[in-house]
Amino acid sequence: MELTKIKEGKAEILVPKAERIYDAPVFYNPAMALNRDLSVLLLKVTKAKRVLDALSATGIRGIRYALETEAEEIWLNDISPEAFKLIIENLKLNFNENPEVDGKSAVLKGEKLLVATNKDANLLMNEKFRYFDFVDLDPFGSPMEFLDSSLRSVKRNGILALTATDTAPLCGTYPKACMRKYIAMPIRGELCHESGLRVLIGTAVRYAAKYDLGIEVLFAYYKDHYFRAFLRLKDGAKEGDRALRNLGYLYFDSKTGKFEVEKEFLPSRANAFGPMWLGPLKNQEIVEKMNKEDKAELAEKKKVAKFLDVVVNELDVPFFYDIHALARRNSLEVRRLSDIAALLQENGYHVSRTHFSPTAIKTDAPFEEVLKALKAL
Ligand code: SAM
Repeated sequence: MELTKIKEGKAEILVPKAERIYDAPVFYNPAMALNRDLSVLLLKVTKAKRVLDALSATGIRGIRYALETEAEEIWLNDISPEAFKLIIENLKLNFNENPEVDGKSAVLKGEKLLVATNKDANLLMNEKFRYFDFVDLDPFGSPMEFLDSSLRSVKRNGILALTATDTAPLCGTYPKACMRKYIAMPIRGELCHESGLRVLIGTAVRYAAKYDLGIEVLFAYYKDHYFRAFLRLKDGAKEGDRALRNLGYLYFDSKTGKFEVEKEFLPSRANAFGPMWLGPLKNQEIVEKMNKEDKAELAEKKKVAKFLDVVVNELDVPFFYDIHALARRNSLEVRRLSDIAALLQENGYHVSRTHFSPTAIKTDAPFEEVLKALKAL
């Protein structure tokens, strides 16, 4: 395997040379640097100590957690023997020491404890029962095949980080795939990204509930064709019940763009989308702290700052109005977001931008008021 050295955050990483990232024998996607940056910030803020990068590939993620956060024990795992070898090389490169290799595991004891393993992630997570403060699942496509084991491997008040790149099922292009993987009905159209994220979280909530665990969403977002959710597990049957009460359904009128949500275990009407999470998508204190962290050494500092700025100021209410779609559906002219926002605010409503779409607003104003504002301009 021909290698080249890259730098991301504080890490230097050997990655395979390849024409296209998916042709490489070990996977490295530079476009996910922002995902890793945000994960570093969240780890710094939550101060997780024992961390598993369950699907590690080159080791970039786990190595960055070791170099850039207060994590003390970091496990890096991949089922691919080539990835395992490369993780060992990258550990040597970044920590100037040779790990002790014993078959399918390698240990590096320095200031921090670093463990590389070459196992099926499900096997490893089942062996390490309630062991980690933070488990990161960053798979190809859907994290669902690893969800059960990860819920067992995270401590009962630990954090589970999920990436899902299977946006086509979650955004309703392949509804049957969504029904199989997430046991939920997805929606297409302008609300599909928020809905996809909420379906992903909703499925995690249903999986967790059977272990008498609830879930608090610390921070969840959509960006660059992937979903990411940082979920704090909450111990106890009551927490499980509480989380389930935040599940429900979305109804959407495609003629007008009007949406409604209901928090119910079963849908009360036909043509419901879900079940999905209808609770908060962020813990305000956590995202504010992330935003205040020093970003100088991050790979994508400017993009991270800009993105977190939107997130921090975003109203945490389910769904939004995409002004272009709203105008098209109601045969109206598109108006500036700022003008619509000003009018709604004059009438006492809260309005914000949303990270889900640059042409949309989140508001607590009812649909009719938003439409009235669009017509009035
Ligand atoms: N987390 C990495 C990063 O930030 O660069 C990228 C991970 S890549 C998308 C997914 C990795 O999962 C691949 O390296 C693949 O070999 C590994 N993988 C797939 N199935 C696995 C399994 N059952 N157990 C462990 N690793 C697995």
